[in-house]
Amino acid sequence: MKLLVINAGSSSVKFQVFEMTNDLVLVSGLIEKIGEESSEIKFELHKAGENNSVRIAEPIKNHKEALQKVAEILLDKENQIIENKEEIKAVGHRVVHGGEKFKETVIINEEVKAMIKELSSLAPLHNPPNLQGIVVATEVFPEAKQVAVFDTAFHQTMPPKAYRYAIPNKLYEEYGIRAYGMHGTSHRFVANEAARFLDSNTLKLITIHLGNGCSMAAVKEGECIDTTMGLTPLAGLVMGTRGGDIDPGVLIHLGSKYNLSIAEIDKILNKESGLKGLTGLNDMRDVLELKEKGNIQATLALEVYTYRIKKYIGSYSAVLGGLDAIIFTAGVGENSPFIRDASCEGMEFLGIQIDNSKNNVRKKGVRIISKEESKVKVLVIPTNEELEIARQTFSIVK
Ligand code: ADP
Repeated sequence: MKLLVINAGSSSVKFQVFEMTNDLVLVSGLIEKIGEESSEIKFELHKAGENNSVRIAEPIKNHKEALQKVAEILLDKENQIIENKEEIKAVGHRVVHGGEKFKETVIINEEVKAMIKELSSLAPLHNPPNLQGIVVATEVFPEAKQVAVFDTAFHQTMPPKAYRYAIPNKLYEEYGIRAYGMHGTSHRFVANEAARFLDSNTLKLITIHLGNGCSMAAVKEGECIDTTMGLTPLAGLVMGTRGGDIDPGVLIHLGSKYNLSIAEIDKILNKESGLKGLTGLNDMRDVLELKEKGNIQATLALEVYTYRIKKYIGSYSAVLGGLDAIIFTAGVGENSPFIRDASCEGMEFLGIQIDNSKNNVRKKGVRIISKEESKVKVLVIPTNEELEIARQTFSIVK
């Protein structure tokens, strides 16, 4: 069965076609700068034994045109992906916020669309373009089942003691103010891969997703019981441009003493904090390079970044009541031995022992970087959110 996976952003559409059940990617691509003159279409064909990259500069007016372009690419005889649109049996959509309503993947109908729209207040930058992707995919692929895979769904198993904030009940009951968590599709994917790799379904895991956005999850027997992001993606770990946990009093202080507006505080917290705030640079590679040159600010930023991860490893070991494995994933987690080592350093008392001869080796795929005798296994597992969306979609339409 062939499935199309769509991740629609405000000015971009990412797409992949999978052949299930064998997880085969036939094509993956990205349409960027939709609505601008300089839009660009990039895609890669993954035919047996060869990878072909194609890049086309072409103005794409809107998401509908973008999806029509995707259909053209899939139907192009030379690309050998599909002969007619009906071969795409389902389209799996990434949807960022499913609130409390969506605890799992669902087939999209009018009611689901209305709920996604309603939940836009919780994810104003993400849910509207995700919904737009759904609407245009339905027009362009009318025969396919449309499926929504929510980033928040994996975290819906958290107990109230983990997701409730100690603020007036009314704010939860009337406005839905609670922790929802993000990156759920990635945490679910790597937790499942770890269970398969370690051949056990009863594991106590900590999954650490370190990309531009960063979050951790405590996962017990495949279910999330706590996570670091909250109502919004601002909570928890230090990220590229977001600082993570902060005393909320700081915001009141900035407003009352320095007259900063909500818009200014929003900009500081979302765009000017994290690695960027501490070093002026948001890309981890650049910050690591600065540290290598002896830069004091970069050294401090990396200390704050890894200290926060270490604190959550400690606290999640406590809430899990033990720990079998730690999993590092996403851009930083998959590629930086320094960050992995510094985040786990000094935790031998918990049974965590990294083997730096393994940690420093660059390798693709799932791998163990802890010592043979380490009670807690430390793993690097490349995340693959698109594949997880394809698997979820397949499991509901097959
Ligand atoms: P996104 O959250 O946008 O999907 P990624 O998972 O691709 O992002 O992660 C991006 C981050 O990964 C950037 O901060 C980048 O610097 C970092 N990164 C990529 N490669 C390396 C590397 N070799 N060493 C350290 N950090 C890296």
